[in-house]
Amino acid sequence: MKTILIVANNKPKSQEIEQAIIDKIQGTSLRLVEADQTPDFIITIGGDGTLLSAFHQYQRFINDSRFIGIHTGHLGFYTDWRPNELDILMDELMQTDGASVSYPLVEIELTDIYDRKTTLLGLNECVIRSQSGTMVIDVLVKDYFLETFRGDGLCISTPTGSTGLNKSLGGAIIHPRIEALQLTEIAGINNRVYRTVMSPMLIPKDEWICLNIQDQHSNPLIQVDHLYFDHIALKSVKTRIAKESIHFAQFRHTHFWDRVEDAFLGNKNTHQIEDFS
Ligand code: NAP
Repeated sequence: MKTILIVANNKPKSQEIEQAIIDKIQGTSLRLVEADQTPDFIITIGGDGTLLSAFHQYQRFINDSRFIGIHTGHLGFYTDWRPNELDILMDELMQTDGASVSYPLVEIELTDIYDRKTTLLGLNECVIRSQSGTMVIDVLVKDYFLETFRGDGLCISTPTGSTGLNKSLGGAIIHPRIEALQLTEIAGINNRVYRTVMSPMLIPKDEWICLNIQDQHSNPLIQVDHLYFDHIALKSVKTRIAKESIHFAQFRHTHFWDRVEDAFLGNKNTHQIEDFS
């Protein structure tokens, strides 16, 4: 028996699909579970934002559960299934042999001015930004000093997060098979006095990025995906590709570049459905 946990956003369409899944599961080898049990599958209904929320809410299950995203708006980067494909989805769930595709996550270690540490996982990105004035941050890669950044903030994104905020900041779109973090600037100051690399940079999985905040006046805010932490007196942020990754059921995966085309260009009316492996 395979177990399922459903996470739907509060849009009527998503609620309707949640109920349809509950009805279709009756009398099958699938069983719904509550959040007190580890599910085989976590089905999200909504958009990429819904999947991000489910990831953070059920992070404790990420080693054992596989995610499946049903989109009730547009095709997303984490959401493959359309609402009219529930019967196919149910069949796949009953037949699947457990194959999954995994995407890298970012591990974020926050250290406050009292040297207290907090570790978080992000699916899209970690952003450090000023709440007032210019931030001054020393950027170290693998403990080597690279530059002193002055500006609004810095964004460190995962490959799947590269199509989110990172892209709006001028970062590259990274295929999820490339295990690297991308560092992009948010309104960096560059003139004859202050200088940074300015280009987005890719950091491989055996290296890490350390951001040392040089001045508390900017009142730094940390954003991890859709979550904001504005009350930490932050001293430094260390990020690397996490040991853990997020797993998606592999029986359906829209080709990554097809998602990119659909999200940003929309030239085609149909989606080529391919195995992602
Ligand atoms: P939000 O309003 O929930 O999301 C903003 C938009 O970003 C939504 O359209 C969402 O898609 C989309 N999105 C989320 N993850 C994505 C990904 N990996 N690739 C492409 N698009 C993605 O905003 P939020 O709650 O503040 O932040 C959630 C995420 O949204 C962040 O992690 C960030 O990457 C992204 N975001 C982007 C920008 C930007 O591009 N300027 C600004 C804010 C946030 P759905 O409609 O399918 O949910």
